[in-house]
Amino acid sequence: MKASVYYSKNDIRYEDVDIPEIGDGDMLIKMHACGLCGTDIHKMQHQTVIGPVILGHEVSGEIVKIGKEITHYQVGERVVTAIHVPCFNCHYCDRGFFTLCDQFKKTNLDPGGFSEFIRIPHLHVKHLTHRIIDSLDWERAAMIEPVACCLHGMKSANIHPQDTVLVMGGGTIGLISAQLAALKSASTVIVSDLSRFKRELALKIGVTYAIDPIKEKLETRVAEITQGKGPDVIIIAAGVSSLVSQAVNIVRRGGRIVVFSPFDNIPIVKIDASRLFRDEISIVGTYSLTPYDMKEAIEIVEKNKINIKDMITHTWSLSRISEAIEFASNPNNDVLKIIINAEK
Ligand SMILES: [Zn+2]
Ligand SMILES: [Zn+2]
Repeated sequence: MKASVYYSKNDIRYEDVDIPEIGDGDMLIKMHACGLCGTDIHKMQHQTVIGPVILGHEVSGEIVKIGKEITHYQVGERVVTAIHVPCFNCHYCDRGFFTLCDQFKKTNLDPGGFSEFIRIPHLHVKHLTHRIIDSLDWERAAMIEPVACCLHGMKSANIHPQDTVLVMGGGTIGLISAQLAALKSASTVIVSDLSRFKRELALKIGVTYAIDPIKEKLETRVAEITQGKGPDVIIIAAGVSSLVSQAVNIVRRGGRIVVFSPFDNIPIVKIDASRLFRDEISIVGTYSLTPYDMKEAIEIVEKNKINIKDMITHTWSLSRISEAIEFASNPNNDVLKIIINAEK
């Protein structure tokens, strides 16, 4: 089969690899769509993974082979899955921190989403794999995984009715989070982003305000909108660590800042730490998803509770991932989510 193999920055090869053998509890799917995630681009461009490796984790596909022990799935069924499975039985899992479990990052799809066929190991079959309805196309189905990640973040955001939520960064994660905030009854959702295309898209999918932080001072504009209080919740969905300092300055008293972005390049920032005690603000991180988030995400996507369709701006074929990454990385391009399709 063919797969898109990352060797190093600027060296991604579309080449032949072996179709994985499946065990008795595993299944093999034919990949139909796999989202190109910001973290995939980040891993490749900042070389935080060592090649050769096949990335991709936002997968939808069709079952082509099942292990002997599998009785509840059939060949031909359409499914979605995700990449990491917690053990449900350790110090972290016992306390509900499933994404921090030691087993979590050790579990992976084989060989990865950017591949024609993918082995879904038995733990993933058991805890992360779900059938999808026929009317859901492969591309939107591939968005279930990022929606689940954002739902996971929403739990930390703890949004209340009538809240004002500021989302810093109008990429895929930002715009999913903005829509989920509205779904969770936030009355005002503000998105800030440098890209005009993303701001226009944000308004199209229903956010209340879209701010260009170059043209308008974010602090001033947000203060105007919130009558000086500041947002109840700020979600940081852009890989710029200085946004944490800015968010600390503008969140309301008792407000929450949810960080949903890797800051590997510049991880150290200064914040006004006096606000933690004096104003009881909190800063929390969010990473990946749990099996429980996956189920909720499927319901949201299948029932069209948020606008996924307009967020998918491009589809690209598996053999041309390098081009897709280059296109997605150029801030001058009008692009939000790119979905990778298997070659026809
Ligand atoms: Zn992702
Ligand atoms: Zn665990």
